[in-house]
Amino acid sequence: MIKYLNIRSKQRIEFIDITSDVENALREAGIEDGVCYVYVPHTTAGVTINEGADPAVQRDIQNSLTRLVPHDMGYFHREGNSDAHIKSSIVGASAYVPIDGGKLTLGTWQSIYFCEFDGPRHRRTVLKFIRG
Ligand code: ZN
Repeated sequence: MIKYLNIRSKQRIEFIDITSDVENALREAGIEDGVCYVYVPHTTAGVTINEGADPAVQRDIQNSLTRLVPHDMGYFHREGNSDAHIKSSIVGASAYVPIDGGKLTLGTWQSIYFCEFDGPRHRRTVLKFIRG
């Protein structure tokens, strides 16, 4: 079963907490045990699981990625968004969360973030729930 989440980013770089959307989709899917596969079908966005309690952590991750990969570094790609492509590859396009008893087995401080690196844009995230 596949479910799509529609996402609208508002800033060029922005992490959007999609944990409750994934939990709602899991409830609708009615899967008790298995794996939740979260996939971002974009080349300038990604997905990561990290601290959800303190928003400063998201800012630190974003700022660190930008220090590592500045916006304008004389890249070959002429669209002007090479940094976003590189950040997307660093963060990755997918994440897995085991499902136990109908719930995501996220740690207490973990949230699932859609990572925008070239917004604002309309985006989507693909969720696949695998029984097992
Ligand atoms: Zn591009």
